[in-house]
Amino acid sequence: MSSLQSLFAMQKSYPIFAGYQSGQLRFSNCSSNFNCSNRMKVIDHIRQAKKTLISFEILPPLKGKTINSIYEHLDPLMEFKPSFINVTYHRSEHVFKKKMDGTFDKVEVRKRPGTVGICAAIMNYYHVDAVPHLICGGFNKRETEDALIDLNFIGVDNVLVLRGDAAKNETLFEPEPDGHRYAIDLLKQVVNLNNGIYQEEDIRDGFRTRFSIGVAGYPEKHFEAPNINSDIQYLKAKVDAGAEYIVTQMFFDNKKYFEFVANCRAAGIEIPIIPGLKPITNKRQLTVLPRTFFVDIPDDLSVEIMKCKADVDVEKVGGEWLLQQSRELKESGVPALHYYTLGKPKVIWNVVKDLV
Ligand code: FAD
Repeated sequence: MSSLQSLFAMQKSYPIFAGYQSGQLRFSNCSSNFNCSNRMKVIDHIRQAKKTLISFEILPPLKGKTINSIYEHLDPLMEFKPSFINVTYHRSEHVFKKKMDGTFDKVEVRKRPGTVGICAAIMNYYHVDAVPHLICGGFNKRETEDALIDLNFIGVDNVLVLRGDAAKNETLFEPEPDGHRYAIDLLKQVVNLNNGIYQEEDIRDGFRTRFSIGVAGYPEKHFEAPNINSDIQYLKAKVDAGAEYIVTQMFFDNKKYFEFVANCRAAGIEIPIIPGLKPITNKRQLTVLPRTFFVDIPDDLSVEIMKCKADVDVEKVGGEWLLQQSRELKESGVPALHYYTLGKPKVIWNVVKDLV
């Protein structure tokens, strides 16, 4: 990517995030070719696309908030007719709550429940395919099976299969007793269910689900992998086991994505690789994102962000950088641009508006 100086030279005025009222578009701005009987798999969206698709990823709201926060978040973005919307999954964590007598109770809390319900709401209200994230952490195989049956019953045909991160109080990921250690093991369970093979051995000739399975890939390597080649070999194993497409971790330098795709192709991975994209919207993220997601922030970008006085200036710089990244990726013919909206739909809206 060229320096931000040149980006600003070609900068247009920022459209304001206006013209919407929450709920206004909820039933009227659905993609027109969707109804419950022709819901589609992500891989079919990609295969049938004549141009680069747009997709979004959202987080369930914090417990205590209503689903209206999801609608308020998504309503404006529906203008871009996303082909699918991913909904993250958040495992529960243990916290210690102080009791009156000064001792502590260990309590299990799930801060962001609702992934399955939000998927149902997205498909009902917007008529857009929802992709729930499915993780190994916190689930045993039978609970996973029941969750997949729930998803099938509400009409979800897509899952993004992940290991999930270690629990907050653990340094390394530990599976549940009779749970899965790696995403590939969970993926094989989904493939089995697609073939009518259930955990309950006495179910013979069981109903076959039809999940299209995506998996995660890391242009800058997964933090636990000893090197990128090892990481790509394990990614190849997920593909060989039935993954149909890959969604990448965020990256801020397109070169990292292009190199990753080239390495994957050299390793025999032929499936679509969807770039995951996120804008930087505050200065704190310059340290938080590398620490949390193990990604580099290019010098050009970090220097410009450090010059900003307020978050609104950072949003401008981050949004412009994301727009240039998106343009270059689109021109290179990526299957879809997948935006991590993470509470910042306004910035994403500005970027996609200028892109399409
Ligand atoms: P895996 O594919 O299992 O890989 C994990 C590590 O183990 C890698 O280092 C890999 O190289 C190595 N490995 C893989 N297989 C083997 C094997 N057989 N033997 C030895 N080593 C192996 N987390 C959430 O909790 N909820 C979410 O909703 C969520 N959404 C995400 C969406 C995207 C697009 C991405 C990129 C990540 C998301 N994450 C989410 C984070 C993800 O769960 C973590 O990055 C996790 O640490 C790894 O998940 P994975 O599916 O890549 O794991």
